[in-house]
Amino acid sequence: MVQMLIFKYLVLLCCLIIASKIWAQNSETITVDYCIDPNWAPYESIENKQHQGISKLYLDLIEQYSPLRFNLITTHTWEQSLHGIKSSTCQLLPLLNTSAEREKFLTFSNIYFRAPNALYSHYDQAMVGNLTSITDQKVAVVAGYRMHDYLTRTFPNMHLVTVTNEQEGLVKVANQEVDYFVGSFYSANRVIQQLSLSQLRIAGIAEFPDKLRVGVAKDAQHLLPLINQAINKISTTEHNQIFNSLKMADLVKRSNYAIVLKTSFVLLLVTLALLAGFIYFRQQAKKLADKHQKLQALHNELADKNHQLAQLSIRDPLTNLYNRTHLAEVIEQQIKLKQRYDTSSCLLMIDIDDFKRINDKFGHKAGDEILIKFASTLTKCARDSDIVARWGGEEFSLLCPNTTPQEAEQIARRFQDSLMTMNTEQIQAVTCSIGIAELTENCSADDWFIVADNAMYSAKNQGKNKIIMQSNG
Ligand code: GH3
Ligand code: MG
Ligand code: MG
Repeated sequence: MVQMLIFKYLVLLCCLIIASKIWAQNSETITVDYCIDPNWAPYESIENKQHQGISKLYLDLIEQYSPLRFNLITTHTWEQSLHGIKSSTCQLLPLLNTSAEREKFLTFSNIYFRAPNALYSHYDQAMVGNLTSITDQKVAVVAGYRMHDYLTRTFPNMHLVTVTNEQEGLVKVANQEVDYFVGSFYSANRVIQQLSLSQLRIAGIAEFPDKLRVGVAKDAQHLLPLINQAINKISTTEHNQIFNSLKMADLVKRSNYAIVLKTSFVLLLVTLALLAGFIYFRQQAKKLADKHQKLQALHNELADKNHQLAQLSIRDPLTNLYNRTHLAEVIEQQIKLKQRYDTSSCLLMIDIDDFKRINDKFGHKAGDEILIKFASTLTKCARDSDIVARWGGEEFSLLCPNTTPQEAEQIARRFQDSLMTMNTEQIQAVTCSIGIAELTENCSADDWFIVADNAMYSAKNQGKNKIIMQSNG
């Protein structure tokens, strides 16, 4: 029984020792020195002695999913980094392609990042589409890059110019020292954007994309299972997050000429639009002005017509003297003035003598002409302040404001004398009978007219061609 207990105790102790060993093994961290390409942003670069870029993000994840801890050994070129592996200064390169050359001293992890390679040219250079279309042109490639190895082996006759890094290659293309540069799409675009190499463009796609992985020095290949395990643990979301963090350089900017042309074209369009707008508005303004002018002319015409209409309503059409309606209005005004200022006014009623006979003898048309001449003679004899009116037929009225009967008689006399000299073709003389009535106090228009008319009839009765002053009786 006691033996049994001791045995169980020993078994438990062994289990505990094994478990603690396993735990200790798993929690033990392994430090790995590594080198990177210091000039390959955004894939990887060294800025302020710090590792930056895609490979840094992946190494962080590998640290998270493995006991590995990474320590950066600073280099200045990719070739130095490759040399660092060969000389065991560093044990790992985190992001690179495989190549026959590299497999001599490196073992590779699973692929964890893929990216295209592109051909860059000066804007003046022809598009090539792909590497096979290049004949005798100079092609720049970074020394030690897998692409260099690939081009040397696949296109032995290609005129290759090796450069230290992508920046140098792209600047050479911009300066037209070489015709093309072959490099990683994302990093080359980054350089083009940073250096504003707007004279460059993508001339083709290299048919050989980057399949990037971790390269471990042969003498440290025991690390590879840990690295692959960690890579396998990286989730799709984490891969996507890293890819999205890749601040992709803008696509190669179009040539300045293209921008200038585009800008000029837009400016031209804007200018033409403005010009068209200006012409259109000017035409509209002119049309409006024309319309306004026509409207103004119509207004004037209307005003004339209204005036004419107003005149027609107060004028006699044959003689153009005031008509009876207007005379009635003026008579009313005179009556009011008389009431207010006690002014003296006279009304003359004038009737042509034996006009019927004139008509009968010489015809109605000749009668009309006599009426017209009679009216104009009367107007000439009247004063500016007098109102000359045709009462109707061959009867006329003369209203003389501020006029005494004596003054009115003088006017009448002057008129009769003028008639004597009135020349008509056939008629020797036209005479008329005139009755004069002074406006008296409290006299109505009708009364005043009747008095004047009666005076005129008295003149007729007394043998015509006479002037009779009103009788107050
Ligand atoms: P008294 O001397 O008595 O006034 O005679 P009278 O012939 O002048 O008068 P009466 O009333 O008999 O005739 C007036 C004539 O005037 C009749 C008419 O034909 C004529 N008369 C009226 N209006 C017009 C007109 O507008 N044109 C012409 N030609 N004749 C007119
Ligand atoms: Mg008459
Ligand atoms: Mg008459």
